[in-house]
Amino acid sequence: MNDDPAAGRRPKLRAIPGHRLAGLPQLAGAGERLRHEIAVVAAVLPFKVNNHVLDELIDWDRVPDDPMYRLTFPHRDMLPPEIFERISALLTEGAPKERLAEAVAAARRSLNPHPGGQLEENIPQLHGRPVPGLQHKYRETVLLFPAQGQSCHAYCGYCFRWAQFVGEPDLRQSLPGPATALEYLRAHREVSDVLITGGDPLIMSTARLAGYVEPLLGPDTGHLRTIRLGTKALAWWPHRFTTDADADDLLRLFERAVAAGRQVAVMAHVSHPRELAGDAVRAAVARIRSTGAVIRAQAPLIRHVNDDPAVWARLWRDMVGLGIVPYYLFVERDTGASSYFEVPLARAVGIYRDAVRQVSGLERTARGPVMSAGPGKVCVDGVAEIGGERVFVCRFLQAREADRVGLPFFARYDERATWFDQLRPASFERRPWFASEPRFAEEPVLV
Ligand SMILES: *Cc1c(COP(=O)(O)O)cnc(C)c1O
Ligand code: SF4
Repeated sequence: MNDDPAAGRRPKLRAIPGHRLAGLPQLAGAGERLRHEIAVVAAVLPFKVNNHVLDELIDWDRVPDDPMYRLTFPHRDMLPPEIFERISALLTEGAPKERLAEAVAAARRSLNPHPGGQLEENIPQLHGRPVPGLQHKYRETVLLFPAQGQSCHAYCGYCFRWAQFVGEPDLRQSLPGPATALEYLRAHREVSDVLITGGDPLIMSTARLAGYVEPLLGPDTGHLRTIRLGTKALAWWPHRFTTDADADDLLRLFERAVAAGRQVAVMAHVSHPRELAGDAVRAAVARIRSTGAVIRAQAPLIRHVNDDPAVWARLWRDMVGLGIVPYYLFVERDTGASSYFEVPLARAVGIYRDAVRQVSGLERTARGPVMSAGPGKVCVDGVAEIGGERVFVCRFLQAREADRVGLPFFARYDERATWFDQLRPASFERRPWFASEPRFAEEPVLV
């Protein structure tokens, strides 16, 4: 095919699991200690990289401080010191398998593997029975979690799905097939957006994905305006859209959806400008856009990776330069290696503001910093002084209670707070939005 942007060059996906990272040739010169630390952390938390991440994204001259390396490779600070020491000692002394497995299991249990009960709470009902694999929290949007999409091309170190990646994927939380989703959506005319998420739905073959998308294109679901696909594939494996065997079929699927009157929104998870720099990703963006699909991009603010206004300013500029619409700057949630990656809200607000000031209006479309919390999506708009009191000015971008959307509310300023459940109402704040929900659980960030 002559219009193939990478004719003659079809990179083949090679996945490298966590237990093989310490032995990678790229780390041969890195020193015994670093390799041991990698092995210890990878025994507890899930890691996976691929040849695109290794060959195109990581700058090996800057390891271990390189942001792409930090995002995808184990680091000793990802584990609390006592856990690190315990596993380290067991590995060093060559402890029997069962003892190591026991210690690893205990370590995982102590790392908040299942933050919140959000998935369970937002499962909708059909004929009086729950429909697992669907989530319907905000009136107009339904989330679909196809069972075959519950993995990823590579793993981000902060992924809230880490428990699922190290254990059995929790298939109770996912859709075995499209039938029940379709029935639910037919019955809910108020829904305009379907968000197919995961893991990463683009880990599925195009044929499988089409099994979920095609049924949404008929007149019986004519109330659906937008089909969103949450994905990290654009950054981790752009060949999914260019040279993979079913890449062309994927683009044709987007075209069919567009022709059927649906907006196709590829919700790309993009953490760092380097992820947009290569030829493959540029070709992928151009191909996706040529189908009529729109790419929007979002990512959490992550320490060691993108906690720098210059990085976000560059990211938003590069996105708009490619025709990608910046959408959200998320706050990272408290699970797994969160203490390694988390950024206090006070600092997140400053980074967002400093970044936004450096770019043009079209590059300012990302809202943030945003927490996807129990009661809704909360944006911290800034820090202000009201009646002599320092406060965070917050706003619900989305809310389970729809009448809260758009209203500002005020939390006591707290330099160290990193998540919504640590915020307390300002002294003059009378609305019961904090008090009635003492423990705000988190929920999945949408890739
Ligand atoms: C973010 C999110 C959505 C989509 O919200 P938008 O404001 O339309 O982007 C839907 N459902 C859940 C549970 C979400 O977290
Ligand atoms: S892309 Fe999303 S689901 Fe995949 S590893 Fe990263 S955070 Fe997790």
